[in-house]
Amino acid sequence: MRIVLLGAPGSGKGTQARKLMSERNIPQISTGDMLREAVAAGSRLGQQAGEIIDAGNLVSDEIMIGIISERLARPDATNGFILDGFPRTEQQAEDLEELLDQRATPLDAAILMDVDSDILMKRLTGRRTCSLTGKLLNVYLSTQAELDECTSAGGELIQREDDNEETIENRLEVYRQQTEPLVEFYRQRGCLKTVDADGSVDAVFERLLEALT
Ligand code: AMP
Repeated sequence: MRIVLLGAPGSGKGTQARKLMSERNIPQISTGDMLREAVAAGSRLGQQAGEIIDAGNLVSDEIMIGIISERLARPDATNGFILDGFPRTEQQAEDLEELLDQRATPLDAAILMDVDSDILMKRLTGRRTCSLTGKLLNVYLSTQAELDECTSAGGELIQREDDNEETIENRLEVYRQQTEPLVEFYRQRGCLKTVDADGSVDAVFERLLEALT
């Protein structure tokens, strides 16, 4: 199964992609995670991308398609993949389409994670990652027990650099301007499915599985 997860920052793409990865045994390919790893490693790509990410802007299409075409060529992606955070521009969507056409492996679906913009802010400003397990948590939305599980094991609740209010505003604006048009792009290709992404992680996951049947 080859799918693209579309949706604004904070719509839950990463959380749902990880669940789907364990359920379907296909890799979650998060371009945001890949870029953050490059920044942490201090590679050339990381040096180019760091400031752009911190400002909430987009890394160039040329760099991104290069990263994705290399990643999709790896053996674990032959049986399918979940793209999380890519494509983000029409150019990226067109390049992806061309790449997949060349391999005769078209997308099965583009899933729009649909959520109201006032909910996004809370999800983004409250978002934390457990430094021990990598689990995604939220200081407003996770239960105290979930948060304690991390901290009492000696973990820290880490906040992403770009999850501050000013950068979030810009990321949401960039989404509206550059990524939202992809909803129409995939609708026209007949592969768009919309999932109501408001609610608990498990409830949204149920809806996602239903959309994929
Ligand atoms: P994310 O974790 O998906 O929210 O991505 C974090 C940041 O990485 C974004 O705000 C962008 O700066 C950059 N990024 C991730 N994916 C892409 C992409 N497909 N195109 C351009 N920039 C990206």
